[in-house]
Parts: sequence; structure tokens; C-alpha cells
Amino acid sequence: MKVLVTGGAGYIGSHVVAQLIEQGYQVVVYDNLSAGHRSAVHAQATFFEGDLMDRAVLSDFFNQHQRDSQPPFDGVMHFASHIQVGESMKAPFKYLRDNVGAMINLLEEVTHHGVPRFILSSTANLYDAPERIPIDETEALIPGSVYGETKYFGERMLMWMERIYGLRYCCLRYFNAAGAHPDGHIGEAHDPETHLIPLLLQVALGQRENITIYGTDYDTPDGTCIRDYIHVIDLADAHILALKALATGESRVYNLGNGMGYSVLEVLETARAVTGHAIPVVYGERRAGDLPRLVADSTRIKQELGWHPEFASLHQIVQTAWNWHQSHPNGFEDINTK
Ligand code: UDP
Repeated sequence: MKVLVTGGAGYIGSHVVAQLIEQGYQVVVYDNLSAGHRSAVHAQATFFEGDLMDRAVLSDFFNQHQRDSQPPFDGVMHFASHIQVGESMKAPFKYLRDNVGAMINLLEEVTHHGVPRFILSSTANLYDAPERIPIDETEALIPGSVYGETKYFGERMLMWMERIYGLRYCCLRYFNAAGAHPDGHIGEAHDPETHLIPLLLQVALGQRENITIYGTDYDTPDGTCIRDYIHVIDLADAHILALKALATGESRVYNLGNGMGYSVLEVLETARAVTGHAIPVVYGERRAGDLPRLVADSTRIKQELGWHPEFASLHQIVQTAWNWHQSHPNGFEDINTK
């Protein structure tokens, strides 16, 4: 089985690549390294540095991988995209042009070459006005940002690709991806970092003086926002299960979370317990666009694919992230300079 992973040098992509290799897949990574890290890519994966916006390069790449009697890849997992909700509201055209444009180019090659299966990295940002919590897949799709809208377009395009070309697809709508590979060699390293857990750990490492808590007056038990943190390895495993399921089954959509909500203050306390650091905080204003509570109902993927989170506890999630941050305080720069 030969799988193309776009964005395989990024946080979630690199963990999926590691799991695919461990399970015996042949993996090709396509990444422009605008946000990803070359050294995050597993040594046994074939790496190609390229931009999905460059149609000529992408087309050559697919032609080069063409096999005699089979399509160039048995499946594609598409992670490559800009991912910041806040930035997408300040630079909407960057998101619309790149995220949507890249996927159009990719789908054109995928369908032209008859690649049979496609997994899309989608998002809980499609649920901006949930009627029921935990949120299942029947909830109304209301993107909460331009970023979310680009993923919504992606899901819609896949629906048409199936209808026209028979492409089988799975959209995985992630809640809050967190944690790091349990052996500590890869982990989260965004620049700029905007996510709660790595920011807390950067304070514990002495790289930041404190962290601002965005809002303490939400309608939640302690007044801070509640999120569903899911371990990146559990996410990765869901992708591989989905890829297998598409070999015989129909296209589908799954929500991916632990089903457990934790408030910002609970995450803070866990980070303090794991690191033994006081982690000073500043109480700040609400961040624009944050919903009080986002928790997944992942019953569907559990029932249909037998998926089960292995790293379900918040403590495990923060502990694996801490192992990575402690051993790589400067992220992948520590590996590049070794
Ligand atoms: N958050 C915070 N301070 C920060 C970063 C995040 O209080 O410096 C809060 C944020 O308001 C949200 C939660 O932590 O309620 C998770 O935010 P993150 O950006 O990690 O993920 P999101 O839920 O926005 O995808």
C-alpha cells in the first residue's frame, strides 16, 4: 500500500506518517515546508519538497509516481493547509486561495490518475453553533471562520468528486489535537505557537513568563472555555482505520475527540502537575470567535471502525507533550543542529 501524505512534515501529518510506516505502509510526503519541518518526517518515508499551488510541479510529481497497472498511490491523506482560525479572519484571501486552491489542484491529479481513496484533515470549526453537546456528525455545518470555510469547501468538493469520479473519501473533523509521539522524537512545533498546551509548556520551560487565559466569564463551571483534547497518535490511528475502511466501504465523515471536555483552568492545573512548575497566568479578555464549549461525540467512528483512544487522559496527553518539549526546547531546530 502506497500512501501520499500532503503536509506530512507538519504536526499531525508527521505523526500519521510515523504510524503508517510502523504499520508497513509505503509513504510519500509532499510538503512545501512553509510550516512543517523536514526532520519531522520519518526516515523511511520518501520526501518531496513542493507546493500544491504549483500545478506543473504537482503534475510531474504524480506522473513520476505512476505505476504500470495501478494508480500512483492507493490513497491520499491531505493535511497541507494554513491552520490558524484567527489569522484566517485577518488574511481571508490567503486562506481561500491557498487552502481551496491547493485542494483543487490535488483533486485534479487524484481523479486524473484514478487514486481511489482520499482522507481529509477537517475540523470542529465547522460546528460554530452547536445545538447539542457533545457534538455528533448530524450537527448543522456552520463554519466559524474563513479557515473553517475552506475545510467546508474541501468536504463539499469531495462529495462532487465521488459523484463524478467515484472517489471514496473520509473527512475527519478534529477537535483539539494535542500531545506528542510517546517516544518523544516528534511533537508540536508551530511558529507562532497559538495553542494552549504548548504555550503552557513553554512557560514551564522558562521561554515565556506567563500565559494569558482568554476569558473567565463564560457560562461554564469555572468560567473558562471547555475543549476536547485528543492525542495526536489516536488521531493518526483513526486516519489509518479510515483508509482501510474505504477499501471496501462507502465515503464517510467522523468527529474525532475524546468525548471529555476540560476547561482552560483544568488544563493549566494538569500542566502544573506534570511539569512541577507554577506556570503563572494573566487573566485576559475573551478571544474573538471562541465558543464556550466544544466536545465531540465520536460514537460513530468507535462503532463503525472500532477506533478507541489509547491516550485518553489529559494527564497522558500533557505528559507526552512535556516529554517532547523538554527534550526539544527549540522544537525541530534542536534536531537540525545536532
Ligand atoms: N487559550 C487561552 N490562552 C492561550 C491560548 C488558548 O486561554 O494563550 C484558550 C482558548 O481560548 C481556548 C482553549 O484555550 O478556549 C484552547 O485554545 P487553542 O488555541 O489551543 O485551540 P482552539 O480550541 O482554539 O482550537
